[in-house]
Amino acid sequence: MNKTKTYWRYFENAIFIVAFFYISWDWISNFFIYLYNTILGKGIIADIKGQIKTHSYNDTFMTLVWELIFIITLWEIGLIVFEGFQKEKERKWNSYKVNNIFKYVSQKFKATFLASFIGIFIPLLIKFDVFALVKPFFNYFSLFKINFEWYSWIYAYLVWELSTWVWHYAFHRVRFFWCFHSPHHAPDDLTITTAWVHFFAEGFITTFIQWIILSLAGFRYEMLFPAIFAIEVGWGTFIHASERSLKSGRLGFLKHLFITPSHHRVHHAKNALYMDTNFCTFLPFWDWIFGTLQPLKDEVKIEYGITRKLDTTNFIDFYFGEFFLLIKDIKNTNGIKNKVLIFIKPPGWNPQNKDHLAATVRAAFLKENPGLKSYTKQNFLKKFYAKKTLPKTIYLLSLILIFTHANSFSQKSRKVIFVIADGICYDNIIKQHIPNLQDLIKKRGFTQAYVGEEKDGYSQTPAISALKMGRHK
Ligand SMILES: [Zn+2]
Ligand SMILES: [Zn+2]
Repeated sequence: MNKTKTYWRYFENAIFIVAFFYISWDWISNFFIYLYNTILGKGIIADIKGQIKTHSYNDTFMTLVWELIFIITLWEIGLIVFEGFQKEKERKWNSYKVNNIFKYVSQKFKATFLASFIGIFIPLLIKFDVFALVKPFFNYFSLFKINFEWYSWIYAYLVWELSTWVWHYAFHRVRFFWCFHSPHHAPDDLTITTAWVHFFAEGFITTFIQWIILSLAGFRYEMLFPAIFAIEVGWGTFIHASERSLKSGRLGFLKHLFITPSHHRVHHAKNALYMDTNFCTFLPFWDWIFGTLQPLKDEVKIEYGITRKLDTTNFIDFYFGEFFLLIKDIKNTNGIKNKVLIFIKPPGWNPQNKDHLAATVRAAFLKENPGLKSYTKQNFLKKFYAKKTLPKTIYLLSLILIFTHANSFSQKSRKVIFVIADGICYDNIIKQHIPNLQDLIKKRGFTQAYVGEEKDGYSQTPAISALKMGRHK
């Protein structure tokens, strides 16, 4: 390593130490404040009681998910520091040993904490909420509007997940997009902090992809914040819980209904069988429809990370590496057509070798190991969904649309639009129905909570801002 590189490493490490203590302290203090409030009768029990009283059961669900995330995150951070100590069997406190513990912890956490640190500062520089930016266009492009009946919420969530599936699939299958998404897949060990890692500009592109699908499908912007977005971020974070916290992560029978940590571990694996599968966040519906659903197979042990060689403590390579490689590959390729193709083809493609793609590698693996196929030809559902995916999707959607196509507006259902007390992004219309928003935030026990940008109605606690780094896939 040359001198500049060494100094840069020192700089990265220094920032990591600051980020590690700053974020950990934020989480720990918030956790204990909430615990303290709970003991005083104001915390979680009071929250849940209130939610049940007002029949805001979704809110109760999310409160539990957030608390679970808090506990799992602190648990995993503590456990990895402890693992670092354990690796040092002699436990002699000289500088060399401390260095080893630091190396271990930074191997696991440096990239995730630095990425989340960037995520804290980027919003200070780029002051707009991209969803607020596209909001005015929601009405403009809508062919119709769904109402607020309970079944419309199911439809809305499915449309939301479809928009998620589409951007997520595109970000795995188009080389240029993959550059933005690869940091999320780069950690070679999954911990819940992996949920924090997103390239800062990723969300700006994904929002535009999602918004087009959402608005065309009659999705209501008011349903997104806070309700649907809260599930997306809350559950999207929870499914990153590692084997350290939830051993099998299959969640029993729930694995048939929801995307579980075990499903998402598969998504983060680089094994031939697992690559480019499980793109959904909460409901496995679209993965099932499009044939990308892949349950964990006990025979194939997960190897986390991306297929290229990467030192996860080299943050520049971790965060920007795929961009550098793309530029290099484009430079080394002859012909404009090939240069463009490298840009838009799946990662691994080049004019000389067109078969080194995740899809081909996976197909070859399944051919060699037919026993590992999750769905056989005999499975009629798979047969039904395997072909003509697009017309069938349109057909299914239109069926649901017949039931939801109504422009009626129910005041009653609007009132039960729930508030996620941590991290509220609400709309002016919702605001009318929640005059006591500030009280709700205070009741949560977060002293540092604030309501920012009145226009877009955006508020969050610092701890949650650490949690809400973008899209959590
Ligand atoms: Zn993920
Ligand atoms: Zn992904």
